[in-house]
Amino acid sequence: MGAAGMNVPFTDLKSEHRLLRSELLAVWDQMLDSGSFIGGSAVETFEKAFADHCETRHAIGVANGTDALVLALKALGIGAGDEVILPVNSFVATAEAVVLAGATPVFADVIPNTYNIDTELIETHITKRTKAIVAVHLYGQPCEMGSILEIAKRCGLRVVEDAAQAHGARYHGRRAGSMGDAGCFSFYPAKNLGACGDGGAVVTNDAMVAQKVRKLRDHGGITKYQHDIPGHNSRLDSMQAAALHLKLARLDACNTLRRQHAAVYDRLISAIDGIVAPEEPEGIRGVYHLYVARIEKGDRNDLQSFLAEHGVQTGIHYPLPIHSTPAFASFYRSPCPVAEANAPRILSLPMFAALGDDQLEYVASLLAGYAAGERRQVRAVVI
Ligand SMILES: *Cc1c(COP(=O)(O)O)cnc(C)c1O
Repeated sequence: MGAAGMNVPFTDLKSEHRLLRSELLAVWDQMLDSGSFIGGSAVETFEKAFADHCETRHAIGVANGTDALVLALKALGIGAGDEVILPVNSFVATAEAVVLAGATPVFADVIPNTYNIDTELIETHITKRTKAIVAVHLYGQPCEMGSILEIAKRCGLRVVEDAAQAHGARYHGRRAGSMGDAGCFSFYPAKNLGACGDGGAVVTNDAMVAQKVRKLRDHGGITKYQHDIPGHNSRLDSMQAAALHLKLARLDACNTLRRQHAAVYDRLISAIDGIVAPEEPEGIRGVYHLYVARIEKGDRNDLQSFLAEHGVQTGIHYPLPIHSTPAFASFYRSPCPVAEANAPRILSLPMFAALGDDQLEYVASLLAGYAAGERRQVRAVVI
């Protein structure tokens, strides 16, 4: 434990912004002079660049990732009386969006080592009210889209991708967000592509869906004071669009670094008995928004405090499967044993592009020491 006292934050937005500071300030400075803060060319330029990056025909900037999901569902005609199938393991916003669109969320269990929806269970949840599947690419790893698209086609369902954690990920060569009827992104600051505030986008190849989302985001119309449908105020502002456009240029390089860090964790963790690394199935190129390990021996919460005592910040994504939260208890239908067993065991390790190999090795050495039951000895040496 020569590395005593090293600090490893969970994520690091400060160093990311230090690199971009002068460029950011220059574009924002111009914007203050132009007086254009909502819509305008900055938003259009970013939308075009983001659609290109996602390999889709259209991208529509919106206020946040939750709204992206709500507007996509509404644009696809999903609402009151409809059921939408989604994984029980996700950020709560996935389920909130279904409820905000007026529909009923139906939760499906996940696969043990990818933490994504178990596509073999989807059909057991289909009823005559089912209208759509929300395919979540959790932790940055695309879920099994081949099966989802096949089931959707056969059963006449729509597919909305929640790619809020998966900017730039690929599934058998195709970009996350580009495969369903619509793909939804969040630009919350800590996401792989994050704004300096809130932001989101819907991407699609369907011109009708794109037009409907454009209307829904801005009071139901494209032209000022022409309201075709009741809409929302869910616009992406120009300052966020300009920041996102700058950061988009670095997204692929940052994702490659995240993948390299994940490979180092994979290698170091595979040698530790009782800790399970996440699995990346064949053909999938995840972007490791989060690196989630599973603690099979010992107590996850105890390990988390042990790491914190040694300067390593970790997270839990998420403490409860959504159907076990008070907010969604009324939508509980059936147990989801895999997600329920995983929840108390998962631990998200530090993950961001600027992580150093010495930091990765320090984290892994603490995990190895803990797993070997050396908590007391490790403490004695480090303190
Ligand atoms: C962040 C996130 C959202 C919501 O995005 P906001 O921009 O915070 O509204 C939705 N789904 C998932 C999986 C997310 O991680």
